Amino acid sequence: MIVDLITLGNSPFDFSFTIAPAELGLDDDDARLTEPAEVAGRVTKHIVQTDVEGTIRAAVEIECTRCLEKLAENLEIPFRAAYVAPEHYTEAPEAELREDDLDVSILEGNEIDLNELAREQILLNLPEQVFCREDCRGLCEKCGGNRNLINCNCLEEATDPRWAALKNLK
Ligand SMILES: [Zn+2]
Ligand SMILES: [Zn+2]
Repeated sequence: MIVDLITLGNSPFDFSFTIAPAELGLDDDDARLTEPAEVAGRVTKHIVQTDVEGTIRAAVEIECTRCLEKLAENLEIPFRAAYVAPEHYTEAPEAELREDDLDVSILEGNEIDLNELAREQILLNLPEQVFCREDCRGLCEKCGGNRNLINCNCLEEATDPRWAALKNLK
């Protein structure tokens, strides 16, 4: 969805749209959308600056950091962004009054591409580490087996500190 700031009036503009998985282009295998992401929010035009705030809801399939099993995660991402025209960038007084987490972007032309904004926000907010369960045992370094599913015993001797201590005694 593209918002044209020239035709946008002075009253806030509420938006709501979806982004299809293909449109988002999360092409790495680590994470993908399993259904269209829902984006809703409001654009408010001020004298110098235009604010966009809203929430993205996205269902993603993402790999467990340890064992690489696919997990379903529901993300809820609140976002805020502000745009100023290039000529106002250094003199945007409204921006300085805001919290630090508000990004101020420079407008290119008179349009705000909400799809691009939503896409960036989803990419930024994908969890870096997810675990299928708190005590996920991960993959065996030796045989590659999923240690949640099999008990391969490859690493028991090598990693158990008690064995190391015993060896030192000998
Ligand atoms: Zn896991
Ligand atoms: Zn093993």
